[in-house]
Amino acid sequence: MEYLFDDFKGWKSYVQSKDMPLYQPVLDYEKQQKDADVDTVWKGLLHAYEVMKEAVQTGFSEDMKSYSGMINNGAKRVHRHPVAVLSPEFQQLVARALSAKEVNSCMGRVVAAPTAGASGILPGTLVTLQEIHGLSDQKICEGMLVAAGIALIIEQKASLAGAVGGCQAETGSAAAMAAGAIVYCLGGDIDQIFNAVAITVQCMLGLVCDPVAGLVEVPCVVRNASAAAIANSSAQIALAGVDAVIPVDECVEAMGEIGQSMEAKYKETAMGGLAATLTGQKISKRVLIDDIEILPDEEVS
Ligand code: SF4
Repeated sequence: MEYLFDDFKGWKSYVQSKDMPLYQPVLDYEKQQKDADVDTVWKGLLHAYEVMKEAVQTGFSEDMKSYSGMINNGAKRVHRHPVAVLSPEFQQLVARALSAKEVNSCMGRVVAAPTAGASGILPGTLVTLQEIHGLSDQKICEGMLVAAGIALIIEQKASLAGAVGGCQAETGSAAAMAAGAIVYCLGGDIDQIFNAVAITVQCMLGLVCDPVAGLVEVPCVVRNASAAAIANSSAQIALAGVDAVIPVDECVEAMGEIGQSMEAKYKETAMGGLAATLTGQKISKRVLIDDIEILPDEEVS
């Protein structure tokens, strides 16, 4: 696969030399990759955003109990809880990120952004951002293109997969995408957008992938909520012009370096971290026994 840019520096100098918006080269890349016209790409983005919004609503309105029982309608409880820790908006940000991710854990329809394991972060963030700031769908779709450009560079310089780079690569990348999209949508300049990405990556570095019983449920669902919160705090910091100090490209290189040196037990193998705890092991055994019991006799023997 051909990549759009080698790094964030290249993306910035390209759009500055052509005097184009940050999302434009990503839009052109999408057209080329899909052999589609510009209208088709915008329609695809809008459709993806509709699926994200639908996932948030589904998690609030339908029964979200996973087969393992580890996920059990948590998003609804957060959504309706009478006490808001910071503000009602923050409460809903957390609830929405949980909601869309619960839909994924319960085998519903989501947008992998960038992966299914991280599919609650962009919906939670974008839906909340649109509601608070009254943004148009067009602006949100532009933000999604910026987010996609961020993911393409992270994929090249580090990884987007928990099995390759730990959870920093999945929920960390999704949070970085969301932070960049927020700052873009709120009118931040390129340096502020990339600074938001850098700050987010700094906050998510080193996070291991340790799903209990190998299921993308615990800690994945709650990590989507915390990653959405970090995306928003990073955007707030970057919008104020606070410098990340370490440039975004170097932050992403650090993510790649940490991912490479992470032990295999922390890369989606369910052999380390939370998956290896006493309770994690008990759940894993129970899920395995349940799986065997529902298999037809000939597959068990
Ligand atoms: S813990 Fe692993 S499976 Fe779960 S969201 Fe993170 S990277 Fe994905």
